[in-house]
Formats: sequence, structure tokens, C-alpha cells
Amino acid sequence: MNPKRTRPSFWKPCIALQSAPRYGADMTILIPIFGDQLSHGLSSLAGQDKIACVILMAEVDEETEYVPHHKSKMAYILSAMRHHAEDLRSAGWTVDYVKLTDANNSGSLTGEVARAIERHNVCALRVTEAGEWRVKAMLDSWSDRFDVPVTILPDDRFLCTHGEFERWAKDRKQLRMEFFYRDMRRKSGLLMNGDAPEGGQWNFDAENRKPAKHDLTMPKPLHFAPNAVTQDVIQMVESRYGANIGQTGKFGFAVTREDALQQQQHFLAHALPNFGDYQDAMLTGEPFLWHSILSPYINSGLLDPLELCRAVEVQYRAGKVPINAAEGFIRQVIGWREYVRGIYWHAGPEYVESNALAATRPLPEFYWTGKTDMLCLSQAIGQTIAHSYAHHIQRLMITGNFALLAGLDPKQVHRWYLAVYADAYEWVELPNSLGMSQFADGGMLASKPYAASGAYINRMSDYCSHCRYDVKQRVGPKACPFNALYWDFIARNETKLRKNPRMAMPYKNWERMADADKEKLRSHAQLFLETLG
Ligand code: FAD
Ligand code: SF4
Repeated sequence: MNPKRTRPSFWKPCIALQSAPRYGADMTILIPIFGDQLSHGLSSLAGQDKIACVILMAEVDEETEYVPHHKSKMAYILSAMRHHAEDLRSAGWTVDYVKLTDANNSGSLTGEVARAIERHNVCALRVTEAGEWRVKAMLDSWSDRFDVPVTILPDDRFLCTHGEFERWAKDRKQLRMEFFYRDMRRKSGLLMNGDAPEGGQWNFDAENRKPAKHDLTMPKPLHFAPNAVTQDVIQMVESRYGANIGQTGKFGFAVTREDALQQQQHFLAHALPNFGDYQDAMLTGEPFLWHSILSPYINSGLLDPLELCRAVEVQYRAGKVPINAAEGFIRQVIGWREYVRGIYWHAGPEYVESNALAATRPLPEFYWTGKTDMLCLSQAIGQTIAHSYAHHIQRLMITGNFALLAGLDPKQVHRWYLAVYADAYEWVELPNSLGMSQFADGGMLASKPYAASGAYINRMSDYCSHCRYDVKQRVGPKACPFNALYWDFIARNETKLRKNPRMAMPYKNWERMADADKEKLRSHAQLFLETLG
């Protein structure tokens, strides 16, 4: 905190200003900023007089402990917060920063706001809306709890407002990303020629399913060696949360906007041209392929998603990347990312309790250790432990697909995803894990379950050729477990899924099978499931 800004520790005079706050020369507007609000253009800061405001940033146990976060995820967010505080100070703001280890740290954001109100002569609280239900409930309690007016501003870092999404969702029988995405293209003007989509079609996904080969020229994301601030944070995380999942030894995330922009630039120049072609591909020992590795920066606020999409369009218009890459990337950001946020708020806080397929099996231990002889899983989980990162198809079609087929409890699956990825905040993680990957919302988000046998994994990766299981076998000691589990999933959920027109083909194939084969598959699946413990 800037000592010149220290104010007498009373705030009662401001109470009278509750209905119509007028800010006297010695009064302070307190602006709490959270770990996912690290943007200079944040709505709570916009138009404010820097002299009249104190920004509060607090590291609290409540946030570091609501799930057992990956150590690198925690180190990333805390270090990015500390660097952002310095950036804000350099830009002329007064920042009151509370570290996790500070004496008297109350352990909660509300507690820290209460303490900050006592430290400063606060006459008003101003905050950008929360990113998730848990934090929203907390913000909503502040106006009752504190004797100062509380202004909660919309988070304008998203293209689609809550109201727009609700209007879009209203009266629709089905909420499908594709139609929502087209509206976002029209709204943003990205890849549009007047009213028509660039390239004559909205979606080039059919071109984005090529398997990849090992290639020495494959780009690697930039590695940012931890500076002294990050090293301090890593040490602190290791000493407080040493038992949590993850290795910090390979920590290489950018922790400033400047460095995140460098990774953005690196992606645009080196990986984007092939992003589309290999978007769904997986390779042994290659955690990143042609993905951007930008989600931690976008979600914490260091990068602006729309600015990024415009930069992608510039690359396309300059003839440096093909349409399937540019469109594929932009769809992920203004399509999927905005759509899952819309679903999260539309579905309400009870969404997390959804369990349409009544799945109850506990999450196996190997999700935390990576110790399994199924190579696809050990690769996806192993790199998650090392880097706090796995790309979309690994999350959806390896760890997610296995959980779906094995009937794992969707809430446990959700808490795992929320804990292990550096980009995981509930608003984006929950619809992806519970909805898209576990079909626990019964199809609110996805038109069919993303369930696949080993054949899909074999087509999109080289994992199977290095695995101790045989992807072609369905039963027997060497049979790939995904095969019998797939058919067991189909049979087990017949009453719930049979009427889904997109599931017609698997059910037709199941019907055609001889009863003895069905029996063998199901008992093989049962035997395997028993080994999960
Ligand atoms: P790229 O492949 O380079 O994609 C570009 C960008 O598009 C990403 O950075 C991201 O901002 C956006 N994006 C792509 N797909 C999605 C999507 N389905 N939903 C939202 N944004 C998307 N993404 C998160 O940001 N946080 C999560 O906690 C998260 N949990 C997931 C859990 C499951 C089970 C699944 C299937 C997906 C999850 N995703 C999540 C979506 C996606 O897997 C990640 O955004 C992506 O892997 C991040 O890596 P990247 O930056 O290299 O992405
Ligand atoms: Fe995974 Fe089966 Fe392939 Fe092994 S054989 S990598 S378990 S899909």
C-alpha cells in the first residue's frame, strides 16, 4: 500500500452516503479485484479517479482450498496477481495487497474486505461481478454486511451479456452452440463479409480432424523461467500445499500481460497455421501440439479474448493461415467459451448436482497419480501433473470419455477438472466437464454423449501402438478396456439414450450383436470395473 494513502481507520461518516454516495476528498472507494480479474480495462476500474480509490487484492485460504488445486495452478494465479498488483501501481493506482502468509489474514475475501474497510476511510465498494455462483453469493451478501453502498458492475470482458444469452435461450427447445456461435460472429463481425460468413460456410470443423505424426518442427509454447516473485510463490505453495497434485519443477507460465502477449504472438506465428488440421490429434510425449496454451491467460484476464480473435483474423486476411485454422480457433473462443459461460449462468447453482445418467462410481486413484497401464490415460494425466495442462481432446475423449464409460460420479469428476488445470474456474470447467463430457445435464449442452471406444483413440493418436493393451480386442486379458466399457455404457443407459436420434447407430449395432457376445462384453466390463477399487 502507498503510505501516503493511509487514511484514519474509521468509515462511519460514509454510512449516511449509502443511497447517494458523494466522495469527499478524504474518502476512499474500495475496489476489490479477484484472481480472475487481472485486466487493466476491468469494469470496476473504468472511469475511476485513481486518487479516490484503493484497490484491494487478497490471497486467501478460501480460494486456495475450495478444491485441492494443482500446485502450478495456484502458483500461476498467485504470481500473476502479485505481478498485476505491481502493474496497477505503476499505472498510478493504490493497491492494498494481502499475502496468504500475512499475519491477521482472515482467510476469506469477505473478511479481507471487512479489514480493508477498517484500514481505509471507505465510503463505497465497487466490484466487477463474480465469475461463479459461489463468489456471487458472497458479493450479494456485502450490501447487508457492510455499511457502505456496494456497486456490482457487469463483466464486459465477454462478448455476450447475461441478458443476451437469456434472450437467445428463451423459447428454444434445444440450446445448441452452433446457432449461438453464428450470432456471435454477426455481433463481433469476425470472419464476416457483410451478412455472409467468410469462406461461404460458418464452420470448417469437418477439416479439423487429422491425426498428427511426430514432427521435429512442431512448435513448443514459450517457457517463462520463474523470476524471484514466482519462485517465492512456488516455495510458499510447496510449503503450504506440498501434498496437492502437481509438479512445480516444470513451471513455465507467463505471469504478466507482457509475457502472455509474447505467447499469443508465438502462437499466431508458429502454431495457428496448423491449429485447425491437428486440433483433435494426440501424440505420445507431446502435451501441446498446435494448441495455443492461452486459456490460463484469457481466463485470468491477462489476455483479451476479442483482441486475440481479431489478431487471428488479421493473420487469415494476410494469407498467413488457412480458413479452417482461423475459423476453428475463433469458434472455440467466441463460440464455445461464450456458450459455456451462458449455459453456466442459465442453468443455475443447482447445475452442479445434475446426474442424468445416475453415475456413482468413485474417481479412481490413478486420476491423481497417472499410474495406470492404459497409456492414453497415463499420458493425459501425466502431462496434467507435470504442466497443469491437457488439450481439449485429451480432456474430452481420454479422461472424460473414460469417466463417462466407467460411470464415475460426475461431481467427483467435475471437482477433479476444477482442481487440476491452470485455466479451471467453475463457470468454464463445470459445463465442459459435467455437461459436455459426462452428459450429466441430460443433453442441455451437448446433443449426444461424447462416448467412444478404443477405435476413436487409435484413429486420433499414436497411444495405442505403445500401449500394453490391444485396441483391436474386445475381451480377454489384452483387450483395450475402452471397448467393453463402451458397449457396457451403451447397454447400461439404453432406456435413457435410445430415443436420442444421434445414438441410433450405436443401438443398431448393439442390437445386431449376438447375445453371447453382448454377455461377454458386459461381464468383461464388470470385471474391469471391479479392479478400479
Ligand atoms: P486451444 O485448443 O488453443 O483453444 C483456444 C481457446 O479456445 C482456449 O484457450 C479457450 O479459451 C477456448 N476454448 C476452446 N474450447 C473451449 C471450451 N470447450 N470451452 C471454453 N473455452 C474453450 N477450458 C477452460 O478454459 N477451463 C477449464 O476449466 C476447462 N475445462 C474443461 C474440462 C473438460 C472436461 C473439457 C472437455 C474441456 C474443458 N475446457 C476448459 C475447454 C478446453 O479443453 C480448454 O479451453 C483448452 O484445452 C485450453 O487449452 P488451449 O488454450 O491450448 O486451447
Ligand atoms: Fe488407451 Fe486402449 Fe489405446 Fe491403450 S489400447 S492407449 S487403453 S485406447
